[in-house]
Amino acid sequence: AYPMPASGTDSPYLVKGDSWDALFDRLDAKLSALGARSGGVRLAPGFAAAAKESLGRYDAYAKAGRDADFDRGAQLYDVQWHKLFSAAREGSPHGANPYPNITMHPFADEGPYYAFILAAGALDTNGGPRINHHAQVLSANGEPIPGLYGAGNCIAAPTRNAYYGAGGTIGPALTFGYIAANHALGKSV
Ligand SMILES: Cc1cc2nc3c(=O)[nH]c(=O)nc-3n(C[C@H](O)[C@H](O)[C@H](O)COP(=O)(O)OP(=O)(O)OC[C@H]3O[C@@H](n4cnc5c(N)ncnc54)[C@H](O)[C@@H]3O)c2cc1C
Repeated sequence: AYPMPASGTDSPYLVKGDSWDALFDRLDAKLSALGARSGGVRLAPGFAAAAKESLGRYDAYAKAGRDADFDRGAQLYDVQWHKLFSAAREGSPHGANPYPNITMHPFADEGPYYAFILAAGALDTNGGPRINHHAQVLSANGEPIPGLYGAGNCIAAPTRNAYYGAGGTIGPALTFGYIAANHALGKSV
């Protein structure tokens, strides 16, 4: 699944190494190349040792089926979500996970190994003008401003700080856009 490139294909953000150490070296080289845009972030001196220690612990948890660090797969939610988003594709060359926890599988004993760098980015604002149930923008004293409507990302989310599930932003955006247009036309919805 995105952002994982399909087997055998390449991608500019994919870092490969035949061993863990080779992978970490390439990762650091990539960070070095990005230095001008990242403020010079590099791997810490003890990164490789700490990562290998984490990977070994992860493998042991995967084999035992019990993740003592993060409880991956301990909740029904994890398991169902995994089945939904990580179901094996038809014709996949990878067999079913034979280990007791379907959300975990040990890493292969030998490379190649793959990595890509994840970093924080700004997706959106988390504030903005409030609206009422007619999608009218409210003034600072809470009164609707005649003729001014808002929906979508430019307003304070009607769902406040919750993301109810897939479509949690587009759904309210479309709904309040529809409500706004109808109210502007004097139609009730
Ligand atoms: C990677 C990603 C994945 C997402 N996945 C989901 C998902 O699965 N489900 C879901 O519900 N939501 C998802 N969202 C969120 C959803 O896409 C947005 O909430 C939604 O598209 C916002 O719609 P909007 O019309 O309010 O704003 P936008 O789509 O941002 O539209 C604003 C428009 O205004 C234009 N604009 C900006 N400034 C000016 C200006 N000065 N003059 C003229 N035009 C201007 C912009 O170019 C843009 O076209 C995702 C967002 C991202 C980034």
